[in-house]
Amino acid sequence: MAARVFLSRSVHLLSKGKTFPTLDPRTGEVIAHIAEGDAEDINRAVAAARKAFDEGPWPRMTAYERSKILLRLADLIEKHNDQIATLETWDTGKPYAQAAKIEVPMVVRLLRYYAGWADKIHGMTIPADGPYHVQTLHEPIGVAGQIIPWNFPLLMFSWKIGPALACGNTIVLKTAEQTPLSALYVANLLQEAGLPEGVLNIISGFGATAGASLCSHMDVDKLAFTGSTETGKTILELAAKSNLKPVTLELGGKSPFIVCEDADIDTAVEQAHFALFFNQGQCCCAGSRTYVHEKVYDEFLEKAKARALKRVVGDPFKSGTEQGPQIDSKQFDKIMKYIRSGVDSGATLETGGEQFGKKGYYIKPTVFSNVKDDMLIAQDEIFGPVQSILKFKDLDEVVRRANSSRYGLAAGVFSQNIDTANTLARALRVGTVWINCFDTFDAAIPFGGYKMSGQGREKGEYGLRNYLQVKAVVTPL
Ligand code: NAD
Repeated sequence: MAARVFLSRSVHLLSKGKTFPTLDPRTGEVIAHIAEGDAEDINRAVAAARKAFDEGPWPRMTAYERSKILLRLADLIEKHNDQIATLETWDTGKPYAQAAKIEVPMVVRLLRYYAGWADKIHGMTIPADGPYHVQTLHEPIGVAGQIIPWNFPLLMFSWKIGPALACGNTIVLKTAEQTPLSALYVANLLQEAGLPEGVLNIISGFGATAGASLCSHMDVDKLAFTGSTETGKTILELAAKSNLKPVTLELGGKSPFIVCEDADIDTAVEQAHFALFFNQGQCCCAGSRTYVHEKVYDEFLEKAKARALKRVVGDPFKSGTEQGPQIDSKQFDKIMKYIRSGVDSGATLETGGEQFGKKGYYIKPTVFSNVKDDMLIAQDEIFGPVQSILKFKDLDEVVRRANSSRYGLAAGVFSQNIDTANTLARALRVGTVWINCFDTFDAAIPFGGYKMSGQGREKGEYGLRNYLQVKAVVTPL
């Protein structure tokens, strides 16, 4: 299948011919052997990106030309939608319909959005206190190092490359070791789109080797990372100990989903279910603490349990499947450990809690009630299909409890009273608040975290700032 086609081409970048397997989460079987980049390959890729930045046409061509190339890349990805979605499902276990109808189209939309920005990035003139003409120039930073996770491989790829390319930077991007396929497929489309040589260099390999080398590299001018909070700390350290390159971090979360007493309960149940179980629960912003007002708690719980029991788990390539397998045995074991900890700490297991089927890494949709804030399942990011339902009495209390997390990525607020919803939205210390909806994403909407959920914002106009230097130019009048 497609995997064989591009592997031979991706290997040419890498020096030693070493490979690692990428696995099918439905069975644990090997899909393909992938070239394993190491420190030497990172050096070669950074040298290529540096040359393309210092000498190549990319930062020097008109912004309109860059925009047209980004649009061509978006068109090509759209044309290859089904092949890319197939690889994404094969590598991650996510439902094919989700990959084909939501994620690849979002990648296309994001590239078109940033293509639109390329020729609208400009500085300003500033009225200084003195006889000077002062202007600011917005310039690309240089060589950007980018590291992405396995839960939304091509979507995260696009969040990283879109703004960086629009601003005229060159890139070395490392894919997650679990999910290299879709980005490698897109690598084969870059030349056809007209991207000059050396502008976007994609390396498959492991975090501790290729990833760490990229972060420590003295010739990388900026880092952008999406992944776990623990790895985020390591990356900051590596950047600080090398050349103090600026770092953008999109990290983990433990997002509250607050259901007020006046919420439309059926909508809240459905959205809370979606907020947690979407993508097998493997979302950084998953609504993983469902706070429900005591007056509607029993009704909500009964309906939430019924919805989880109805969830269609199975082969992600089969039409109608809502939930596929978890990404790998490591994540599977970690989630099962959290489920045991929930039971041991006294939460009530309403449904699920065990493997689905006998093969692969499927887990039954799991719902816990009677969850308390100090339980591990209410504090740690489980990154799996485990919904924790907690009871609250009043708004002040729920704000305090929702904000007591070390994370601050997102929140959901369900109320039919606009004042209540807005009060909560202002009080919550998170980067995104969805009111009466959840996981509503668009290329134009900034995304990022408060507290240990990250630094900086991606997407939207804010996303451009990560990839620009501001130069002040002062001339006497
Ligand atoms: P991870 O941190 O283990 O890995 C992410 C990436 O970092 C991978 O490419 C990995 O190879 C690389 N990496 C690992 N160690 C490294 C090191 N020492 N130096 C450099 N690179 C290294 O995370 P994961 O398990 O792949 O992804 C899941 C996590 O990502 C979750 O915590 C989730 O919340 C988070 N996430 C956040 C967002 C967001 O936008 N905030 C989006 C998706 C995922």
